Amino acid sequence: MQSSNEPSFRESVDIMFNRAVALMDLPPGLEEKIRVCNATYTVRFGVRLRGKIQTFTGYRSVHSEHMEPVKGGIRYSLGVNQNEVEALAALMTYKCSLVEAPFGGSKGGLCIDPREYDDHELELITRRFAYELIKRDMINPAQNVPAPDMGTGEREMAWIADQYKRMNTTDINGVACVTGKPTNAGGIQGRTEATGRGVQYALHAFFRDPQGLEKAGLSGKLKDKRVVVQGLGNVGYHAAKFLSEEDGCKITAIIERDGALHDEGGLDVQAVYDWIGKHGTITGYPNSKLEKDGAKLLELDCDILIPAALEGVINLSNADRIKAALIIEAANGPVTAGADEILRDKGCVIVPDMYANAGGVTVSYFEWVKNLSHIRFGRMQRRQEESRHQLVVDELERLSADSGIGWQLSPDFKEKYLRGAGELELVRSGLDDTMSTAYQSMADVWHGRDDVKDLRTAAYLVSITKVAASYRAKGL
Ligand code: GLU
Repeated sequence: MQSSNEPSFRESVDIMFNRAVALMDLPPGLEEKIRVCNATYTVRFGVRLRGKIQTFTGYRSVHSEHMEPVKGGIRYSLGVNQNEVEALAALMTYKCSLVEAPFGGSKGGLCIDPREYDDHELELITRRFAYELIKRDMINPAQNVPAPDMGTGEREMAWIADQYKRMNTTDINGVACVTGKPTNAGGIQGRTEATGRGVQYALHAFFRDPQGLEKAGLSGKLKDKRVVVQGLGNVGYHAAKFLSEEDGCKITAIIERDGALHDEGGLDVQAVYDWIGKHGTITGYPNSKLEKDGAKLLELDCDILIPAALEGVINLSNADRIKAALIIEAANGPVTAGADEILRDKGCVIVPDMYANAGGVTVSYFEWVKNLSHIRFGRMQRRQEESRHQLVVDELERLSADSGIGWQLSPDFKEKYLRGAGELELVRSGLDDTMSTAYQSMADVWHGRDDVKDLRTAAYLVSITKVAASYRAKGL
């Protein structure tokens, strides 16, 4: 449990931001302009369900519009509140800037337990929430583009896209109003697993950095590393699956809301996932020990800890007992500012959220571009598509030159795109390239500056520098 003398999630993000800007030389006032959330819209709407009107509360927060559209997921959870969406929106700004996805930061949430409603009810609720946001341009392909987050997925995104189309029948770019859609409704291959895939690529990048490994006291390869995963939702499941099946990591513990499994020999991630899917609980999973107090296993002796669920799970109450050499923040904000300090002092290396879980928004960017270009992102079948592919590349290069933040098409992506590689190959190559480039930019600061002691501060420095440059370029 997080103790009451800890700052809120929003304050925690600001403390980390402040630590970084103290090492920068920003013009007076700009620091505050970047830190504050521009606006948060709260909506309460009613939906007639089971014979009576139920009122729901939802939010959409816009942190920074230095680039538009602004981008960020929509979360369905009972824990959603204004403070949380504002913290998450701020993290989106820093995340997009770090991986050079040309978006500002935003986030939304609906205070609801989606498990309490059937599909039809959820569709009614989602369409109504979307209606409220679309009406105020808080869902719009040019201004604000949501995506999945905790408690939502491609099904909700398809409903939102359809709702937008109904309300804007002549907008030819309407399908780009939201990302994370199913592939048969304007989505892109590889988006569902993108955040988990990005966690894997982030670890690959870290394990290619000898200085980073030394700082974490780790050696060798990912193979056989003992990994503890908290949360087997979309992100945790894919990260754990790829790391165990493709990199030979041993998933020694899986922590879920109703308990945790522990097996030093390594758990079968797919089997555990299927068990939860079938039984709705981790309890009863055969052949491994169930620990009722799941959170205890965050403190297990392991090489890599992957918090992939909620914010604030590593806090003042347990930070000093965490034994992992490396924490990779697949969730947003899983380590509080106070815990971050304790862990840093202990020599634990933290791969920060804004980088570690940026795979989702990176592939969202590919989806958005695909939607706007109105062209298949994949194997070319007709000759004339070749020249259209060249046009898309030319246009993207022009955009990258104009954007002012220095993002650009990677040569590998360009080569594959022009060759007409399959969509999934393009997505993976673009994601891998993004994660390697962003890692390098953080590592240069982390290893190159004596006053930067940790990757999170390095990530903030890289990210804020770009946001500041963008504000400066366009004026306020
Ligand atoms: N919800 C995801 C995140 O926190 C994805 C956001 C997006 O794709 O826009 O990064």
